[in-house]
Amino acid sequence: PFDVLVVGGGPAGASAAIYAARKGIRTGVVAERFGGQIMDTLGIENFIGTKYTEGPKLAASLEEHVKEYDVDVMNLQRAKSLQRKELIEVELENGAVLKSKSVILSTGARWRNVGVPGEAEFKNKGVAYCPHCDGPLFEGKDVAVIGGGNSGIEAAIDLAGIVKHVTVIEFGAELRADSVLQERLYSLPNVKVIKNAQTTEITGTDKVNGLTYLDRETEQEHHIELQGIFVQIGLVPNTDWLGDTVERTRTGEIVVDNHGATNVPGVFAAGDCTNNPYKQIIISMGSGANASLGAFDYLIRN
Ligand code: FAD
Repeated sequence: PFDVLVVGGGPAGASAAIYAARKGIRTGVVAERFGGQIMDTLGIENFIGTKYTEGPKLAASLEEHVKEYDVDVMNLQRAKSLQRKELIEVELENGAVLKSKSVILSTGARWRNVGVPGEAEFKNKGVAYCPHCDGPLFEGKDVAVIGGGNSGIEAAIDLAGIVKHVTVIEFGAELRADSVLQERLYSLPNVKVIKNAQTTEITGTDKVNGLTYLDRETEQEHHIELQGIFVQIGLVPNTDWLGDTVERTRTGEIVVDNHGATNVPGVFAAGDCTNNPYKQIIISMGSGANASLGAFDYLIRN
């Protein structure tokens, strides 16, 4: 059996694996797609200490770093269930069962898509999901935020300080964000909110030039000219496969304490799949290291 089995091979999982392997204990990583979300990321400008890199390049260096150590990397394998028996057992889609004394869950998350024509085509060409990451790219430009929940309104407030103008597109009749956020938003001079608006298309040529929406009251279609669109309609953790075995929040995030421990002894979690409030590469790496040290601490006591 493994001492530490890491499920997920993104920044959190890579970091957890390196920290475990450096303790000289038997370490494995099982990943559906090594690299995780950064494989879909073009420019990265907030990975501290590196002014600029690109997702696939960072993923390759994560892989190279992990492979410096004696880590059993099982790529292109998806975990489908976890059970706590004498050891912790992780069953894979292919039927194999991996046993380990401790497990670190780092299966990440995915942004919910609006699913309209143009979204996939213009991803990284004006369509963005992370205001902390890509906000500065739109300095002085007109952007829209799709989604009027807390994350959408936080993004709009954040972006309003950087870009020329922000249009918030809300599907429902009212914004769903907390009222303090709404008050802050409405106090800003360069923001407009459009409610009852269903985005029907993201338009562009080689990059985004606008957005078409249907006014759900009048049933009329409108087009606005924009250079950027931030989609903020939810981040979904990849944790469905855990069912009730590990405590999760209402939105599916794995609940961890400050050692990265879950409610199941020996099972730890890190990165975007947890209830850590902020989802970033550097934060995921830090929480992977933290969970790995937590797991090591657990192993020497049990
Ligand atoms: P992930 O990167 O999501 O990795 C999860 C891993 O788990 C993957 O290997 C996946 O294949 C695997 N997995 C999932 N389910 C299973 C399963 N059942 N069995 C086995 N393996 C599984 N952050 C920044 O800091 N700066 C940026 O500029 C930036 N830009 C971004 C741009 C885009 C387009 C996106 C989508 C995200 C961006 N982010 C950025 C966010 C950043 O990518 C994430 O915060 C970070 O990747 C989270 O790391 P993670 O290891 O927790 O999860």
